[in-house]
Amino acid sequence: MSKEQILTILDNVSDPEIPALSIAEMGILRGVTITNNQVIVTVTPTYSGCPAMYDIRKRIVQELKDNGVEGVKIITILSPAWTTDWMTDDAKQKLKESGIAPPTKTTEFSLDNIINHIDFVPCPYCNSENTELRAKFSATSCKALYYCNACEQPFEQFKCH
Ligand SMILES: [Zn+2]
Repeated sequence: MSKEQILTILDNVSDPEIPALSIAEMGILRGVTITNNQVIVTVTPTYSGCPAMYDIRKRIVQELKDNGVEGVKIITILSPAWTTDWMTDDAKQKLKESGIAPPTKTTEFSLDNIINHIDFVPCPYCNSENTELRAKFSATSCKALYYCNACEQPFEQFKCH
């Protein structure tokens, strides 16, 4: 089986917290190496303590097994750390369409921005900037809960780490 075929199979694997996006689109999947008798899949968690990572590793092994690929080894690389910049614009758009505000660029998170309150998160439903942070951690620690004052509904933001 070729590397391309492995990557195609892995397109079916998603982060359980972000079902709309594959791990490749999320930037979690870093690479695939094929040796004589092993398929080595390299992954980087969105943040080092991400509890979904165990699940993602299991999903990768299972998906490949279902497609007849055995001898899978998963290597987790923590450095360089995952950044939201690894997500493509397409991926951020898909995230938004599933009702989760995409992360803002890491570089925009500075003390000045926080003091000046310009680190707003636009509502994924109506694009209003009139939103407020309700909980730093929502259902999962990877997402923050916001509330949109314009269309009066809560939404989640996939956080930067
Ligand atoms: Zn809104």
